[in-house]
This record gives sequence, C-alpha cells and structure tokens, in this order.
Amino acid sequence: MPAIPRPAARRCRLSPRTPRAVRPRAGVRAGLGVLVLTLWALGLAMLGAAPLAAAPALAQGAAQVAAQAGSHTGAHGGGEAADPDLAPAVPDPALAAALFGLPQGTLPTLTRIDAPVPGWRAEAQGAVLGLIGSTWELVGSTGYSSRPLDVLVAVTPEGRVAGARLMRHAEPVLTLGISDADIAAYVDGFAGYDTAHPAADGAGLPPVISRATISTGVIRDGILRAARILAGAQGLGAGGIDRVAYAPADWPALEAMGALAHVRVSMAEAAAALPTAAPPITPSDAPWFEMWTGLADTPTVGRNLIGQAALTEAAGALGPGQALLVVLSRGLQSHRGTGWQREGRFARIEITQGDVRLTPAAADYTQLAGLPIAGAPELKERSVFRINADPAAGGIDVTQPFRVTVLTPRAGVGGETLTLPVSAEVTLPAAFRLAAPAPEPPLWQQFWWQKRHQVAVVGAMLGVLGLILFAQEWIVRRHRLWLRLRTGYLLLTLLVLGWWLGAQLSVVQVIAFLHALLLGFRWENFLIAPLIFVLWGAVALGMLFWGRGVFCGWLCPFGALQELLNQAAQRIGIRQIAVPQALHERLWVIKYTLFVALVALSFYSMERALVMAEVEPFKTAISMRFLRAWPFVLYAVALLTAGLFIERFYCRYVCPLGAGLALPAKLKVFDWLKRRPQCGRECRLCETKCTVGAIDPLGRINANECVLCLRCQVIMNDETTCPVLKRRSRGGAPEGGGGGGFKAPPIPPAPPPVRPTQVPSGAHDGAAAPVARAEGDSDQKHAAGGAQPPAFRNQRVTP
Ligand code: SF4
Ligand code: SF4
Repeated sequence: MPAIPRPAARRCRLSPRTPRAVRPRAGVRAGLGVLVLTLWALGLAMLGAAPLAAAPALAQGAAQVAAQAGSHTGAHGGGEAADPDLAPAVPDPALAAALFGLPQGTLPTLTRIDAPVPGWRAEAQGAVLGLIGSTWELVGSTGYSSRPLDVLVAVTPEGRVAGARLMRHAEPVLTLGISDADIAAYVDGFAGYDTAHPAADGAGLPPVISRATISTGVIRDGILRAARILAGAQGLGAGGIDRVAYAPADWPALEAMGALAHVRVSMAEAAAALPTAAPPITPSDAPWFEMWTGLADTPTVGRNLIGQAALTEAAGALGPGQALLVVLSRGLQSHRGTGWQREGRFARIEITQGDVRLTPAAADYTQLAGLPIAGAPELKERSVFRINADPAAGGIDVTQPFRVTVLTPRAGVGGETLTLPVSAEVTLPAAFRLAAPAPEPPLWQQFWWQKRHQVAVVGAMLGVLGLILFAQEWIVRRHRLWLRLRTGYLLLTLLVLGWWLGAQLSVVQVIAFLHALLLGFRWENFLIAPLIFVLWGAVALGMLFWGRGVFCGWLCPFGALQELLNQAAQRIGIRQIAVPQALHERLWVIKYTLFVALVALSFYSMERALVMAEVEPFKTAISMRFLRAWPFVLYAVALLTAGLFIERFYCRYVCPLGAGLALPAKLKVFDWLKRRPQCGRECRLCETKCTVGAIDPLGRINANECVLCLRCQVIMNDETTCPVLKRRSRGGAPEGGGGGGFKAPPIPPAPPPVRPTQVPSGAHDGAAAPVARAEGDSDQKHAAGGAQPPAFRNQRVTP
C-alpha cells in the first residue's frame, strides 16, 4: 500500500478557528447543564406542589369510586377535592336541559347523589330523566396530557346516552388545529348511543377525528365507560328487563317459569300464629290469605296475565325508573284493605329490598276486573301497582330479588290489632332478563385491530431500517446503493409515514410522557395510538443502539421533507450557505433552550406549552398537509425555504424534539461511524458535506447532532471522493471509476500558526497524533480517540 506523504508541516497549520470551535461547545454543554439542572429543580418543585398535594385526593377518589362502582378503576378527586383541578364538573339545570333535549324553558331539578354511583339525578315534571355523571369522577378519565379530561354524560333510565358535553381538557391537539366546534360535534355524536344494545364494531359511535386520534379516542373511552356505569346504576347494562320478547303462556307456564311468586297461609296456620285473636280463628285448610305476585313489565307476563289492553294502559302511565307489580290474592284477608282511599296509600303492602321499603300509593294503583289468562285460579282481588324501580331515586332494583309482604290484620282479645305478615319473594326469571352485553374490549385493543395493516407497514419499514443499519458498513462501500436506499427510504418516510399514516412524532409526546411519569402513567393512553406507540418503541430501542439518528435520520417525515427538498435544490444549482462553525455551534443553543423551556413551561401551564409547541411545523406540514391557517403555513414554508440553502436548517437549530432526542446520545451502545486520522486535518470534505453539520473542523463527529445518514461514511469509502483513498489509488490504480458522487473540495490552505494559548491542552491530540504515524499503523489508530473530548470519544479511526 503506498504511503501517504508525511504531512509534518501541517501539524502546525491547524486552523486558528479550531480552538474557538471547541470553546462554544463547552459553553453549550455548560449552558445545557445549567438548564437541565434548572429543569430538574423545577420538576421537583412541581412534584412537591401539585402531584403530592393531589395524591390524597386521588387516592380518596379512587377508593370511593372503586367501592361504589365496583368494576371500574377510578382516579379522581370527587367533589371533596380541594384542588379545583381535581373537582368534577358540575351540571346546572340549563346544561342538564340541553343534555336531555328538553324543550326551551323547561329546566329540570338536579339532585346530587353519591350512591349507587356519584352523579346527579335529573327530574322534570315528576319524572326521572336519568343520571348525569362526570367522566373524571366516574372513571378518572385523563387525556393524553395526563391531565383530567372531564365530560358530563347524561344517560336515560333505558341506558341510552341522552347527551354529552366536554367540560375540561388539556389536550394538545384540541388546543390548536381542531376547532371547538369539531370537538363539540364529536362529543354530541354520542347522543343516542344505547349502552344496553351496543352495535358491533362501534357502529353508531362518532368516528375519531383523524388528526386527533389519541385525544378523541380517550374522550370516547371516558364517555362509554361512564355511560355504562350510569346505565348500570339504573338497573341496566348488566342484565336489565327484556321488555321486547314475547311468548304465549298460560297460568301454569308462568308459575313454572317463576314469573309469579306464590304464598299461601291456611286458616289453621293463621290460628296457630294468632292464638289471641278475638274472635278466635277457626282452624281449617281454607286459605287465610293466598297471594300470587310478580313483575308485569315483560310482554310475556303482562300480555298473557292481564291482557294487552290493560298492559298498554298500565305501561303507558309508567315513568322512567318505574315498574309494574301485579298482586293477586284470595282467602279471608284482603291485600288492599279499606283504608287506602282514606290514607292515599296501601299501608298493608310492603315492598322491601335491603334497607329500601316501599308502600304503594293510591295514585299508582290499577284495579283489574278480571284476568284473560287461561288456567288462572279463582281470585278475590286483582291489583297492579306502579312502583319505584330506580335505585338511584330510592327505589328497588327489580333485577334483584325483593319481597312483597301483606300485613293481614285481626283484632286481639284486648281490642288491639294483631298482624300476620304474609310474604313472597319475587325474583325476575332468567328468561326475562336481557343478557348483559359482552364487555367491549378496551379501546386501545380496538384501535390496534383497526390499524393492524398500518402497523404491519410501519413494522416492515422498521425492519428494513434495521437491516440498513446493521449492514451499514457493507452499504457505505456501495455509493449508488446507499444513495438509492437513502432517497427511497426518505420518500417512504415522507409519503407513507408522514402524509399517509400521519405517524409524525412530536415533542408534545415527549412532554406527555414526562407528565405521565410524574402524574400517573397509564399504558392505555399511549397504546391508543398504535403507530405512534410502535414508532416510539422502535426509536427508544434504536436510540439505545445508535442514538437519535435512527429517528432523525430515517423516520422523521419533516426531516425527510427537508432533506429531499435540499437534494432537489442542489440539483438545480441552488448554492448552499456554509454557516461558520462558531456561529453554527452557538445556534444549537436555540433548540436545546426550546426543548427545556417547553418541558418547564408544561409544568406551569400545559396549555401555554402546547401553544409554544407550535414551533414544530410538523402538524402544519405533515399532519395537516399544509391545509391550515396561513400563518402556520407561512412559518413551515419559511423553514423549508431556509432548508434549501442550509440543509436541514430546522433540524440543526430549531427542532426541540431533535434536541430532546440528542440528550441521551451518550447512552448509545454502538458507534460504528468511522473516521480517518487525516479527517479534519488533511481533508474536511465530510465536514462540508455532513447533512446537519455534525462534523467539526477537527473531523470529529458530534454524536448529539449526527443523524446517521451515513453520507460521511460513503464519502470516506469512495475512492473518487476521499483524498486519502485517492492518494492511495494514485500510488496504485488510476483515479476514477467509482460511484461518481461527491466532488472533493480543495484542501484548505494552511492557516496561520496558532498561538499556544488558543489551543486547550490535548484538544487536538485526536487529529494531530496520527500525523506522526505511518498509514496503517494499527497499533496507534485508537490512540486518537483516547484524548478526545467526551462528545467525540469512541469514534473509530480508520487509516
Ligand atoms: S431534528 Fe427534528 S425535524 Fe429534524 S429529523 Fe429530528 S425530529 Fe425531525
Ligand atoms: S456525521 Fe456522517 S452520518 Fe452523521 S449526519 Fe453527518 S454525514 Fe451523516
């Protein structure tokens, strides 16, 4: 191998700019250190001020909801929370009227209830309209920002969503880009949804807003979960009464299916139970009191037992949350007695369930002249009562067993009134229960299923990228292959990931993740966006291996757009601006400052941070494909225009996401980018060609800035561009015949000598040391890395 002429003279001809280039970098690091420390302190302060203060209320709310609602997970503060951020939204009569669709001028009365679930019972004109609940209070709904997301949901006694209203949110996508009207229309779309008969595949639900999948998804999740809880609290959604199915049946059939509870007390039993009755009861087998009772709400019982006409009349008078109870009796005693007309209630009849005790009112009574059903015994009294079947309004749960008791009286020897209770237990037969709807899979599972094809596409792209990165040493020796792979992949990233799938990662997601870690992490909130989740998972793993370049260099649609536009600009001859290294490094401060400021501001005000996050043009250029208000479009176009003259201008100086991804660059495991000892000293081609200016005048790669485009690796392996290889080939093979890619600029003229004080001790060892070595001196080739500043250590030096 021909030896490269020993360039001893150049050892003292390092650019005088070099020492200055080192100093700003140290300054940047120091500044960043201060900023990170500030952020850390701010985070601790926020932790102390907000989440810790909220913790007891959160725990209390969670315990309360878990106890009251049983099956769902709650994480809320309830009405007792001192922090207004944790208090659920409270409906007023006007809002309740709107939710239940009442005519103008009709205002319902609202009663706060705490059992069976916390919420508000709405009544108008004596009828229960339903329940209103807060999603934050009922299910602890949090948005993608990990902040409370509160929707008031109104559910009728039939389990139908009457209306919903978004009351509070701190969602990134809802703040800008999507109008309040869009969101209001989306939330309104839940009106009419029947929790008892949910349609398959979410039919009947408003589709999530495509540019706000995550936030509208969590809104939908909160509304549906809260609606089911409110429906369940009204006896629905978990096996309510089937008021539709009908089958002909006679009396024995109704008794056999358990629709009529039966009890009989003979005269002999009554005589034994009331021995002091006066006159004494004559024992016999004749009935003292015999009763059949049951619910007549179902068509099978009602139509067969009392007839269609009577059922229609009785059911027509039923209000929400009421049920029909039929009581039929014979024997010596009467279940009605005579005092009900005077007292306005049937004092002899008690309907009990747990602590609930009801006495039918005279106004709720219908007398039946006869029964049309075949096989009925001879009866003395036939009554139908409307009873309160709304547990939330102090009624009984008719889907659960309850007792009907008739207090049969008899005078005692002392003139007192003796009472013999005769009781039957009523249980709704299984045949008349609605099957509880199968629990819907979590929303995130539905989304993953719906997006399975898109996930497969993203997975395939990630697989290809993995192959490219693992085979990078082989690829960079083939200039044309690299160029095609790179251009093709960037096109895919822009067109498929960006404009088709909308899978553009954003600093907002980083902020949301940090908040979730501090305020309560919920996987569901992140799993709800499958593509973003897969991308972030891959980026996190890739960053561990290769640093931020996995995303910035290959998977960022906006980065791809900038690079492709710049390629086109260079093809048509637009001259590139070379930013002086000192200025270049100072401008890096902008993006790091932006990132830290965004994170810090988000702990003060998420809303303001989200507004500030508009510094990212991603939503405009990628998510909304430039279909946005002109100031946003102008801003994005200005950045892209700057990128025509300075490649990836936005990535270099502005992007807070890129800065956030650069911070953990030191953690990366692999460092497969190679340098030559001559880089930066004899040749600065890579420095001038680097996509983002990540190579300093000494030829060292700044891992924080490198986007892993592999361009420098291609250059250093191309005999037509790399001066070192050219010199080698001059000693052997003739020049040319390579890929014909980059044109090597002339080696810069020797700068004036450097004053010793300008050069920090050992700052140039990495570049200068190989000068004294002969080419191919493998024993010394890693010595350069050992004396390099930390940001440039571990770079592989190739002779
Ligand atoms: S620096 Fe920002 S815009 Fe550039 S590639 Fe990275 S994330 Fe995308
Ligand atoms: S250092 Fe090399 S791999 Fe990194 S961005 Fe610059 S040219 Fe691309």
